[in-house]
Amino acid sequence: MSRVYNFSAGPAVLPEEVLKEAADEMLDYKGSGMSVMEMSHRSKVYDNIIKEAEQDLRDLMNIPDNYKVLFLQGGASQQFAMIPMNLMKNKKAGYIVTGQWAKKAYQEASIYGEAVKLASSEDKTFSYIPDCSDLDIPDDLDYVYICENNTIYGTKYKKLPNTKGHTLVADVSSCFLSEPVDVTKYGVIYGGVQKNVGPAGVVIVIIREDLITEDTLPGTPTMLKYKTHADADSLYNTPPCYGIYICGKVFKWLKKMGGLSVMKERNEEKAKILYDFLDQSKLFKGTVVPEDRSLMNVPFVTGDADLDAKFVKEATEAGFVNLKGHRTVGGMRASIYNAMPKEGVEKLVEFMKKFEEENA
Ligand code: PMP
Repeated sequence: MSRVYNFSAGPAVLPEEVLKEAADEMLDYKGSGMSVMEMSHRSKVYDNIIKEAEQDLRDLMNIPDNYKVLFLQGGASQQFAMIPMNLMKNKKAGYIVTGQWAKKAYQEASIYGEAVKLASSEDKTFSYIPDCSDLDIPDDLDYVYICENNTIYGTKYKKLPNTKGHTLVADVSSCFLSEPVDVTKYGVIYGGVQKNVGPAGVVIVIIREDLITEDTLPGTPTMLKYKTHADADSLYNTPPCYGIYICGKVFKWLKKMGGLSVMKERNEEKAKILYDFLDQSKLFKGTVVPEDRSLMNVPFVTGDADLDAKFVKEATEAGFVNLKGHRTVGGMRASIYNAMPKEGVEKLVEFMKKFEEENA
C-alpha cells in the first residue's frame, strides 16, 4: 500500500486512523453482524452512532443547549437556498461577497427576496477580506451572510464582521473544526463535511433554536425546512448514515488529538511552514494579502502558466497530488486540512525548494 500526500480542496484527506478503524469495522460493526452501511437508521445501534456523533461535536465546539445540530444532505450548496427559505422573513438579507461560494449564495438568495451586497472583494480577484467593522447595514435585514474561509482564493476572516445586531450566518465548509469558535456569535454555522470532517454527502447545520420556525417562505418543501429535521433529530427520513458514522469517528479523533485549540496550533504551525517558504521564494508567490491568509487553503503561483503546469505534473509524479489551483483561477493550491500531517507540508516545501533550484 502506498498513500500519497493529498492536497485536494475537497473531498480531502481524512485521518488514516479513522480510515483503518472503519476498515476494521466494515463487515461487522461491533458485533452487529453487519456494516454500518447495511443497518436501519431506526436501529438502536445506529441511534447510538448518531447521538454520540452529535454529543462529540457539541463537546468539541462547546455548542450551547439553545442550538440544534442537524445532519443534512444536499451539500453546502443546498444551504444557499435553505437559508433564505427559512430565515428571510422580511425578504431582505445582507451578503458579503468574498469568493465564488459567497457569490453563489448571494445569487441564490436573490431568487427569494432582496439580497443586498454589503461588501465585496471581487475588484482584486477575491484576494483579501473587506473591512467589515463598520458596514452600511440596513436595519431591516433578516441576517448577514458570510463565507468564513474561501476555499478557492485562500482567504479567511480573522475577525467576524460587525453585523450591528443582525443574525450572522456563516458557511464554514473549509474551516470546520480547524480552530475554536464562539458559537454564540452566530445564528447559523454550516458546512459541507467533505473537507475537514468526513466524506461528501453530509452537511452539518448548527442553528440557534429561535431561528427554527414554521414561518418559512411559501412553497418551502418539507425537506427544506429546518424545523422538519430539528423536530426529528435529523432522522425525519433516511440520513446519510455511513457519512455521519465517519464524521463521528473524526470527532473522536479530534478529541483524542486534544480538541480544537490544539488543532489551531497545529494548523498555524503547518501553514507557517508553507507561507514562510513562499514569502522568501524567488519562484513561487502566495496570492493572498498576508493578513487574510487562510490556514486551510494556500494558493500560489510562479507567474508562468507553463511552469505552473510543469510543477503540478512533477509534484504529482513525486506523490504530492491535487495541487492544481481551482479551474477558475489557475496556478496551484495546497489544501492543508486537519488531517494533513505536518510532515506532508514539510516534504512539499522540500520538493518546492528543489523545483525552484532546478527552474530558477
Ligand atoms: N462553500 C464552500 C466554502 C465550499 O468550499 C464549497 C465546495 N468546495 C461549497 C460551499 C459547495 O459545497 P457542495 O459541493 O457541498 O455543495
